[in-house]
Amino acid sequence: MSQLVFDPSKVMDIDYTQRTEYLEGLEAIKAAHKVLKEITYAPSLPDKGYTNRTLYVNVGTHEITEKPVTQQMKDVFIGGRGFGLYHLWNAVKPTTRWNDPENEIVISPGPVAGITQYAGTGKSLVVSLSPQTDIPIDSNVGGFYGPLLKFSGFDALELQGKSDKDIILFIDGVKGIIRIEEAPTDPVDSHVLAEVLTHMYAENEKDLPNISVVSTGAAAEHSLIGMLNFSFYDRRRKCVRFKQAGRGGIGTVFRDKRIRALVVRGPKVAGDLNHPADPETIAKTGIKYHKEIRENDGTQCMMRRNGTAHIVEIMDAYDLLPVHNFQFGSHPDVHKIDSSYWQQRCTQHTVDGCWYGCSMACAKGADGLVLRTGPYKGHMVTVDGPEYENAAGLGSNCGVFDPDYLLELNFYCDTYGICTITYGTLTAFVMECYQRGILNKERTGGLEMTWGNAEADLEMMHQMARGEGFGKIAGLGVKKMKEHFIKNGWGDPQLINDIGMENKGLEYSQYMSKESLAQQGGYALTNKGPQHDEAWLIFMDMVNKQLPTFEDKAEALYYFPLFRTWFGLNGFCKLPWNDVVPADNASQPEPHKVPEHVQNYVDLFSATTGIKITKEDLILQSAKVYNFQRVFNIRMGKGLRLHDAAPYRSLGPVTKEEYESRAERYDQQIVTEMGLDPAGKTTEEKMALHREWRTGRFSKLMDSVYTRRGWTLDGVPTLERLKELGLDAFPEVVDVVKQHLS
Ligand code: SF4
Repeated sequence: MSQLVFDPSKVMDIDYTQRTEYLEGLEAIKAAHKVLKEITYAPSLPDKGYTNRTLYVNVGTHEITEKPVTQQMKDVFIGGRGFGLYHLWNAVKPTTRWNDPENEIVISPGPVAGITQYAGTGKSLVVSLSPQTDIPIDSNVGGFYGPLLKFSGFDALELQGKSDKDIILFIDGVKGIIRIEEAPTDPVDSHVLAEVLTHMYAENEKDLPNISVVSTGAAAEHSLIGMLNFSFYDRRRKCVRFKQAGRGGIGTVFRDKRIRALVVRGPKVAGDLNHPADPETIAKTGIKYHKEIRENDGTQCMMRRNGTAHIVEIMDAYDLLPVHNFQFGSHPDVHKIDSSYWQQRCTQHTVDGCWYGCSMACAKGADGLVLRTGPYKGHMVTVDGPEYENAAGLGSNCGVFDPDYLLELNFYCDTYGICTITYGTLTAFVMECYQRGILNKERTGGLEMTWGNAEADLEMMHQMARGEGFGKIAGLGVKKMKEHFIKNGWGDPQLINDIGMENKGLEYSQYMSKESLAQQGGYALTNKGPQHDEAWLIFMDMVNKQLPTFEDKAEALYYFPLFRTWFGLNGFCKLPWNDVVPADNASQPEPHKVPEHVQNYVDLFSATTGIKITKEDLILQSAKVYNFQRVFNIRMGKGLRLHDAAPYRSLGPVTKEEYESRAERYDQQIVTEMGLDPAGKTTEEKMALHREWRTGRFSKLMDSVYTRRGWTLDGVPTLERLKELGLDAFPEVVDVVKQHLS
């Protein structure tokens, strides 16, 4: 593929400071707040990355307490996702469901989070029992909340209980005050609510960047797919922007607890607030990396101009872009929503990072969008993104190639508090069901869910936000929609199950895995469900052919999920690892691991915490948490081989059109892979051969991966593996495993 050339003269002339204002009613909203509980505490900054305190808040009883972060917690769980899983395990029972009061939402940034010298260090992890999967979900999110929480004195925030009225939890990390406030008249949707609260809790104009708000929107209340917006104040645009903890319905849990928002006010951010053990190494590593980004981004990814949407055209070129519910891998209209367009449409006159010091700055924004539908019709807004997943999920996968509609879908997903990836995949499923007669206008209450019908798509989303009509059914997600359609006798159950792209109850993210066995495993053999942040192996497997054998694929499905887990233990963003690589990376051993960057991470962890680690230790740290999470799933009644099953659409062609769109390749595979002759066979016969071969090799892949991970063939970590990882120190973990070993 030829590299896209940036032409500044084509960038749209949009004033990025202009948008609809929402601050008029602020004083009245503030006056309606009522303090339900207030305590004072001693704020503290971290020492070597840790504050050594967790803040526990029960929003039902209004209990607010501090818990110590123990040495064992740090040794075994590190922080971030690890701390989230540890607290959640202790909070719930095997019988706990997502809407029980004891379910928690835990937010933890990790020990390295908050340094400003290296790119991508402002992340926090959110963990809860998911309403979609009934097992722990973890979501890696940017924005300022996590680091400001830590700089206010806490390595983690544990939220438990259920309030009987809408509340806001305010942590003032400067004055040392924690307050639960009743919030009876606050706005519901994130783009209004976060703007209002940021101005309400900031002491003055200069204080605005020290505030971060976690919120969701109207659709989170009426669906199972709610997400959380984590805000950061954009000084140049003078507005609040968001990053999302999207997957698994954490926003739904948040609203079920009647939390309207979390607000933190932290100290002014400076480079040394983490009090690292070795600031010189951190500074040196950061300077080296920033230079690399400056020199290489323009010729490698153009993340700073296009954000992650730069891969739309790459996926299309390699036949990997999801089109029409993952049926096809490319589309002739994709040029309307690829990076050549976003480069012109997104504002280029400002640097867009979601945390201080991120020179990759991929958090692009499309300003000046005037909305055409819904409750904010006529308002001028800034849209965060679109990111690749949004362009692919809301766009090509649903046949929507009008970029303004795509931006509007993206905007409403965000402000209504629903996951764009999930919404894209479930809408694509609805549209295919409509195409195949499983749904019709009568069953959708009048919505014509044809491919590319963006207005019907938006109306379904508005219904979801109002808790009405077919939108409410769609908001249950693909798994429950499948059950609903089958129960009503609306179509062939096998077809419905084959084309409904979910595993463990979570919708697939936006890559076509049919032609990559390793990616099929990368999606299905995950802890939380099919999200590419565990293992994204499509290019290594299918394009670069670096994983020819089952053992190679199993090794990749051992290493990469563990490597990527580590970002979530420490507060890192994954993107700076391999989206831009050193100029000489290709000549290094194991270039797919980006060895120089792995060493950067080892150095940053060691320099922050003072604990010297190696690149092997990094994998060991992750393996402890990863296996703990697998056992946690088993404890909650999932996490076995049968729960790793994949819908057939992710493994191979379900329909005749799909087969025939790639007939040459599939016929050839019958010869080379199955040793048969396709001549004289009908498409149906050839599809049946493929199904047998593809499901058989997926099963064989499971065997190889489980063995490499130290699990039984039923997917259970063995006692030996637990011992190697030191998890035998937790008798409850051992007990869960013993029940499944026979
Ligand atoms: S690379 Fe993008 S998502 Fe990651 S920290 Fe930087 S701006 Fe945020």
